[in-house]
Amino acid sequence: MQQTIFERQPPAESVIQSALEGSVNKPFWIDDVGEQQVYPSLQAEISADLVIVGGGFLGLWTAIMAKERNAATRVVLLEGNTVGWAASGRNGGFCEASITHGQQIAERRWPEEAEKLDMLGLQNLDEIEATVRRYGIDCDFERTGVLTVAVEPYQDEALRGADYLTTAEIRAEVASPTFLSGQWDKHGTAMLHPGKLAMGLKRVAIELGVHIYELSRATGLKAVGQGMHVQTENGSVFAPHVVLATNAFPSLLKRYRLHTVPIYDYVLMTEPLSAAQLESLGWKNRQGIADMGNQFHYYRITKSNRILFGGYDAIYNFGRNIDPANEERGESFRALSSHFFTTFPQLTGLRFTHRWAGVIDTSTRLCAFFGKAHGGKVAHAAGFTGLGVGATRFAANVLLDQTYGLDTERTRLRMVREMPLPFPPEPLTFASIRAAQWALKKADRNGGKRNLLLRAMDAAGLGFDS
Ligand SMILES: Cc1cc2nc3c(=O)[nH]c(=O)nc-3n(C[C@H](O)[C@H](O)[C@H](O)COP(=O)(O)OP(=O)(O)OC[C@H]3O[C@@H](n4cnc5c(N)ncnc54)[C@H](O)[C@@H]3O)c2cc1C
Repeated sequence: MQQTIFERQPPAESVIQSALEGSVNKPFWIDDVGEQQVYPSLQAEISADLVIVGGGFLGLWTAIMAKERNAATRVVLLEGNTVGWAASGRNGGFCEASITHGQQIAERRWPEEAEKLDMLGLQNLDEIEATVRRYGIDCDFERTGVLTVAVEPYQDEALRGADYLTTAEIRAEVASPTFLSGQWDKHGTAMLHPGKLAMGLKRVAIELGVHIYELSRATGLKAVGQGMHVQTENGSVFAPHVVLATNAFPSLLKRYRLHTVPIYDYVLMTEPLSAAQLESLGWKNRQGIADMGNQFHYYRITKSNRILFGGYDAIYNFGRNIDPANEERGESFRALSSHFFTTFPQLTGLRFTHRWAGVIDTSTRLCAFFGKAHGGKVAHAAGFTGLGVGATRFAANVLLDQTYGLDTERTRLRMVREMPLPFPPEPLTFASIRAAQWALKKADRNGGKRNLLLRAMDAAGLGFDS
């Protein structure tokens, strides 16, 4: 089997190790926004018109847009930890127009509505930009687009077409000896600071009159009369409508627990680059970047000229285990450090200040699905896989349409009406993810050729990704 460029050209072990020394295991974005006001936990029995469980991007957007649709709606948001602490405060900050984890998935699964999905996604990104401006949310929003780069010869073919960049052109954008060619999608992606976005949305929600209770984990859901009773550890909320926005964490609705698996994704952040280091890279147009392996890396430059470098390993732990202990994985951080210096050898000596991990809610179709329960009184969305920064806002609109029984362009989509296949129960989940990952790894070393298992999964419309 061949080796990937990252295996053929690793930096010296001492370069990998010394760059990681002194880094802290903490999401940079959350560290960067500093201490925030934490709202008290729910300690009473209250009522509302709408209860939202989960204070990530999905819960926050749902709360804000519920108020925008009708300012009189009494909205309560319950967050088990603190707002934005999970995936929403730990991601790469690529805010993409695609609401289907890439155009290819839409074209393969829902060819007749792919164009509409594309249009709705772009409209959603435009509306995020407008909302951020309207409320003065300073989240370093830069609509720079994204570069997709080929780092192995076989990857070049898929890039040929509009916006194709030759070796010289892509390296003139960003100087990496690993780049063979590229493509620059200029309109479909904005780069942002996820911690600042989460805190900005929290501020706006409060200003619009949303009641946020932090450290208030919902423990149960029960239909009572015309409404639902949402139980927390020390209180409860009664409301006619509930939205569940709990992402990779176990759903309060048992029926959807097998529809996602929690996948750990690992990230490094460098110290700020000096003027000379920046000069050695170019990167004047500040795009996000993703390379094209099945095990891909994503990287971007921040407003303070740090580089975030994440991806590659996607780790599933037996039994859908979610545990802070999973966030410290030396092997994954060393791989990222190594691949970083293969990508940018001119930055040898640069140090990482932060390393962290976050949980992705992978679904078998790699994009969000929408579930309902208790005669439509409970609406649930999850399964964004690794692309939920922008897509959660679109999903929030779908959830609100469904909650209020509206027949809209969004609720009519097959993408919204159809459910993905669930993952099997253990031990089959573990075994099948292992098998798929082994096959994907092999394909990366084999000119991209997909084996029988991957071809069968493709034919069945099943995927595994981060
Ligand atoms: C490392 C990493 C990198 C990523 N990079 C990108 C990227 O660059 N671009 C992109 O588009 N996407 C990316 N993603 C995915 C993206 O971050 C997520 O899709 C998105 O943040 C999901 O938002 P959410 O609100 O659904 O989930 P979360 O942010 O996970 O929020 C869910 C919340 O629900 C709360 N909760 C759960 N159960 C309960 C309960 N019972 N009671 C009360 N509260 C509860 C949790 O505490 C949590 O705060 C990345 C994810 C990770 C982990």
